[in-house]
Amino acid sequence: KNASAKVLRLGMMPADGIGREVLPCAQRVLQNTPGAPKFEFVHLDAGFEHFQKTGSALPEETVKALKNDCHGAMFGSVSSPSHKVDGYSSPIVKLRKELDLYANIRPVVGVRGTKDDEKFVDSVIIRENTECLYIKSETSESGPDGQVARAIRQITEKASTRIGKKAFEVALARQELRRTTQPNYTPTVTICHKSNVLSVTDGLFRTSVRGVYEKDAKDNGGAGRYEGIKLNEQLVDSMVYRLFREPEVFDVVVAPNLYGDIVSDAAAALVGSLGLVPSVNAGDNFFMGEPVHGSAPDIAGQGKANPIASIRSAALMLEYMGYTDPALKIYTAVDAVIREGKYLTPDLGGSATTTECEEAILKKITA
Ligand code: ATP
Ligand code: MG
Repeated sequence: KNASAKVLRLGMMPADGIGREVLPCAQRVLQNTPGAPKFEFVHLDAGFEHFQKTGSALPEETVKALKNDCHGAMFGSVSSPSHKVDGYSSPIVKLRKELDLYANIRPVVGVRGTKDDEKFVDSVIIRENTECLYIKSETSESGPDGQVARAIRQITEKASTRIGKKAFEVALARQELRRTTQPNYTPTVTICHKSNVLSVTDGLFRTSVRGVYEKDAKDNGGAGRYEGIKLNEQLVDSMVYRLFREPEVFDVVVAPNLYGDIVSDAAAALVGSLGLVPSVNAGDNFFMGEPVHGSAPDIAGQGKANPIASIRSAALMLEYMGYTDPALKIYTAVDAVIREGKYLTPDLGGSATTTECEEAILKKITA
């Protein structure tokens, strides 16, 4: 099940809402990009609508197929009901667990030659995906002053160390990607935390990530794999502030689950639309592309969803599977379409349909 297999089998889960409109765009782009491997697409059920029909948001067959028959996967988007629904839990959370996709990697990149130039952002946020406040261990009890609710926040050395490693590896891969275009690029990893207040939990996160870097130096007499990477840290509150004032200072950012969630949404605001921002859920050997946006019920079924986040997620998945050249072709084509501005969907102020935007991208890729 590795990336050198002749045919790559990809599990495709459009799930709910606009996921059904944008995921097919990503599939056609993958199929038509020169230099990409040959794909076989395995269509799999998941999502809230599937739950309403069958009582299961993530059927056992879907998990089995992904584990046993797929090299990678793409997920569309899932509707989250606004109130608690009995028996329902998010398929994406379960997928991350089942496949051990412990990192959520979200690049946020502007497009040169557009208004993004004013405050240019080119960062990748690596969010720990398995613990922190999202272990959902909450209690509520009534006391003399009324109800008291508590949530447990779990940070472990194991999870923090492995997310740290992932961040340094991503930094190295970024350097490799820019070897020809930006030979002087020095990758920087910034640890995002709040250990001045939460010295025990955030303290452990911080020292664990630092530990990866220090161990690499120590084991290799100061000349380890990560030697060329700069290590910084930033408190989460000032990070959000600085992101908006001087986004160019952030390159690779590594954060515990909750801060990563917030910081990456804030960073997404810098590039204009949720419809542009991709992500990949990464384990050690499995990658699942997923646009950052949700199912967008307000525009679902109208043919006007922006397909770019999904198309970029497909490229991201390819990039992490080691297919850098076709991934770069896709990124370049998307940037060109954004820069030209003729085939943009309404979220970006245009009037193109989902399909028209996709076709414009395909045309650039195959030109
Ligand atoms: P969910 O519960 O599924 O997250 P949501 O109501 O939070 O649904 P999001 O998908 O998170 O919706 O989107 C927030 C806003 O951004 C909505 O107004 C939506 O229309 C818009 N949006 C999100 N994704 C896209 C896209 N791909 N193209 C255009 N607009 C989008
Ligand atoms: Mg949402």
